[in-house]
Amino acid sequence: MKVPANTLSPQFELFREEYLEAAGRVLRSGWYVLGEEVEAFEEEFARFTGCRHCVGLASGLDALVLSVRALDIGPGDEVIVPSNTYIASVLGITERGATPVFVEPDEFYNLDPLRIEPAITKRTRAIMPVHLYGQPCDMPSIRTVAEKYKLFVIEDCAQSHGASVSGRMTGSWGTIGCFSFFPTKNLGAFGDAGAVVTDSDEIAQRIRLLRNYGSIQKYVHEIEGVNSRLDELQAALLRVKLRHLPQLLRGRQRVADRYRSAITNPSIGLPRVRDDVEPVWHQFVVASDKRDALQRHLKDAGIGTLIHYPIPPHLSRAYSRLGFGKGDFPIAERCADTVLSLPVYDGISPAEIDYVCAAIDDFA
Ligand SMILES: *Cc1c(COP(=O)(O)O)cnc(C)c1O
Repeated sequence: MKVPANTLSPQFELFREEYLEAAGRVLRSGWYVLGEEVEAFEEEFARFTGCRHCVGLASGLDALVLSVRALDIGPGDEVIVPSNTYIASVLGITERGATPVFVEPDEFYNLDPLRIEPAITKRTRAIMPVHLYGQPCDMPSIRTVAEKYKLFVIEDCAQSHGASVSGRMTGSWGTIGCFSFFPTKNLGAFGDAGAVVTDSDEIAQRIRLLRNYGSIQKYVHEIEGVNSRLDELQAALLRVKLRHLPQLLRGRQRVADRYRSAITNPSIGLPRVRDDVEPVWHQFVVASDKRDALQRHLKDAGIGTLIHYPIPPHLSRAYSRLGFGKGDFPIAERCADTVLSLPVYDGISPAEIDYVCAAIDDFA
């Protein structure tokens, strides 16, 4: 049997006719960038997250960059971010010259609330929790710290569409929630796309201006904006997928349940789930001290896996200017050396999951 690390064809086939209908509707309409489909998607996604506003953008990175900009965070300001995140979270902070302050993760691979307070300085302006792998962060604790120090909270929800804490969606806990709809995300488009959600009229309006050259009224420019507009085609396709997202997320939960009950190899660390949260299993991440050997073993059995992520941002060449070295964030470094993401795509079959579990239990 062969099981790929990820594949997107089955999720297209699941709702093929609806996707083709939506795409055809847009192609025939003669209107392709920012329009009725984008507006409808924004309204539907705002409702889904429980926020008052959603602003569609060109990517998840843009959602982070424009959020940081909309909050006037720039040179001299600090933003707290987990040390084990994808580099895009950090790029969202550094794009306009602000400084990332790395804080180590807890046993759920998420920003450790207990380590936030010691990292706060006079320059701290915001906390950026990342709901990594679709596991929600401890948002009540993070909000308590943020309120105590009057900090903004910018949630990186690129991996957590539909995940909730105490019944409240990720993205609606912070000042702004930032989403990516990159094709491999749980709510993926068929190209690049992103969005922010917020309850603030002012922030939503600011990001609406920023995404379209600083303009709402054609050729009248209020601020120095960028081009980060969402396509009608992507919005129409996202509307189809959003309708089916609860069903797709239930499928991911079944995959995770099966992995969690069927993997019995005592040398494999299974993911833990915080009390009172609903994760969405963007990745199913196991940990092993012999990770590279495990990955080879699975590869030999025809099973694809991925490492999210092999190099923590502070050790990335891109951030050598920050001056960090090995040993500065040992928990993130250990994650990078031990984590392995198992196949968990929409449309994976029970037989495929059982095959992966058997191969893992075979690993000495
Ligand atoms: C994918 C991702 C992003 C960036 O989204 P893009 O749409 O690729 O720009 C940001 N943060 C995290 C945690 C991600 O996984």
